[in-house]
Amino acid sequence: MIVAALIAMAGPCAAQVGAGPTAITLPPQRVASDHPYPGVVDLSVDAADVDHKIIRVRETLPVTGPGVMTLLYPQWETASHAPTAEANALAGLQIRADGGDPLAWRRDPFDVFAFQVQPPADARRLTLDFQYVSSTSPGRLQMEPDALSVQWQSVLLYPAGWYARDIPVRASVRTPAGFTAASSLSPDEGGTSYKPVSLETLVDSPVFGGRKMRSIDLGRLDDAPVSMRLFADDAAALNVSDDYRAKLKTMVAQTGAVFGPPHFKHYDFLVSLSELLPSGGGTEHLRSSENNLPPDFFAHPQDHLIYQDLLAHEFVHSWNGKFRTPAGLWTPDFNTPSKNDLLWVYEGETEYWGIVLAARAGLRTRQQTLDLFAVKAAAARARVGRRWKSLADSSLDPVFDSGHGVTWRDWQGREAYYVEGVLLWLDVDTLIRERTGGRRSLDDFARAFYGVGDHSEAPLTYSMDDLCSALARVAPGDWRAFFDERLNAHDDAHLLDGLRRGGYELVDSDAPTQTARQAEVDEGGLDLRASLGVLVGKGGRIRRLAWDSVAFRAGIGPEAVLTSVNGAAYTDAALLTALRAPPAAFKLGFSQDGHNRVATITGAGAPRYPSLRSMSGRHRLDDILSPASLPAAGR
Ligand SMILES: [Zn+2]
Repeated sequence: MIVAALIAMAGPCAAQVGAGPTAITLPPQRVASDHPYPGVVDLSVDAADVDHKIIRVRETLPVTGPGVMTLLYPQWETASHAPTAEANALAGLQIRADGGDPLAWRRDPFDVFAFQVQPPADARRLTLDFQYVSSTSPGRLQMEPDALSVQWQSVLLYPAGWYARDIPVRASVRTPAGFTAASSLSPDEGGTSYKPVSLETLVDSPVFGGRKMRSIDLGRLDDAPVSMRLFADDAAALNVSDDYRAKLKTMVAQTGAVFGPPHFKHYDFLVSLSELLPSGGGTEHLRSSENNLPPDFFAHPQDHLIYQDLLAHEFVHSWNGKFRTPAGLWTPDFNTPSKNDLLWVYEGETEYWGIVLAARAGLRTRQQTLDLFAVKAAAARARVGRRWKSLADSSLDPVFDSGHGVTWRDWQGREAYYVEGVLLWLDVDTLIRERTGGRRSLDDFARAFYGVGDHSEAPLTYSMDDLCSALARVAPGDWRAFFDERLNAHDDAHLLDGLRRGGYELVDSDAPTQTARQAEVDEGGLDLRASLGVLVGKGGRIRRLAWDSVAFRAGIGPEAVLTSVNGAAYTDAALLTALRAPPAAFKLGFSQDGHNRVATITGAGAPRYPSLRSMSGRHRLDDILSPASLPAAGR
């Protein structure tokens, strides 16, 4: 009776059907179609103004018919799998027909990346002038006095209605005096612009430029040359030892041995070694990759163990991700949303192979590689957010997470398909080896799945069924059920199966391995997430707080600054001493939201660091890390 009375009371005021405005009609989704484009787009990019970090663009394109023309500014960036482009970086747009006065244009109110213009009836060509105002924020620069990168998707508009592969573009780029430019594009005979390529290929072929550049030959795969183009602010950073170059050549050859014939005619690793450009990340392309590394990377590779697989990871992407790509991730143009459901293959398997190939090439020792697996496994195990968010769901993270900070990384998740992808594909690899008595491995799957085709550079898409069928041809089994169970799990029952089948268990140690120590430095502080539940940066500032950890339950928040330990001024050493003392409560002072507080800490325990312990039985992980024997041509 009471419930019914409440519903009766709530009804009229909580819901008012028909008592207000009606919704306007939204336009249908714009659809591209696959048909010939009548002409060529000419794109002239002036990237010489590094002082203001402004790129000036002039573009001409044919008028393709009567009526309103729609020009699109690329919104979805293929490597980020997300609408990460920024419409506010395009400025100063003017559109003219056949050199006449500027035409009025209008931005689509439902799609701010679309510009509509009505050319005069007899117009033949449109000329567009605009600027791309690149970032001026430290850590996000694309242009600095000694180096720059040109991302074509940021410096062009393209006509709506065609697949990107249908639109030919003749592009040129001007860099500051004294700069050398490199990309996977081929210069035309005159040397002033690049040979025309499709819009799809152009956007997949960024340009790096700089004052100090060095090219390094890394051998050939089949007949395709592979080169590395280094750009640095300081010429000393361009020195690569013969030993390290030999390892990179081995990495290239070993990748070819796994994945089979390349789908490029030449490949360029574009590498920046700059304090000013973003550091420590990569972007994949079919014929090249962008690799941003610390300036002293080649001088002291052992100080950068975390990044030793970056080049291998991006190289693997030429096969896994760019040539063979999940059907949902392939889109006909750069303003059509992608469906990100197989990123645990696109990124997860690539991350696994990057680590394996770095080991096979000697870029990391066997022990350093085992230590890295321990770091990854510990990070995956600590993702308590699995209780509500599956690995499958993480594939959608880029669409809503890109460009946003994540406060509770272990609870909110965020692109778990990288770290957990490593464990998942180790699970697959060891299972294939177990089921086939060691006769087959993930190498056989990779060769069969990614080494197909006729050497054309056109992508080949696949579905989940294609993937599971290809695995079943290597090792019989219900791979769909295998993946479904792991991708949708809300516990960690299978998380470490691959490690165990590989002959190792994850254990906690008192002291960090060299790799764990460098991972801690890379994270930016003192990593106590496995005990107290915090990662402490400079000056006691909390950089990461583990969800529902000892520190969390003691009332410490994610923005707190630690100020004292048992009444004495805070130091990292004092905190470590308190954590290592026999089990007893201690007082931890902190400042948070303008208030000074003191928490009583109990039960955190001493700092713990991940490592692997060898188990009895077959060490399949050691087999996996052993180099494949190479055909004579690959040596
Ligand atoms: Zn990747």
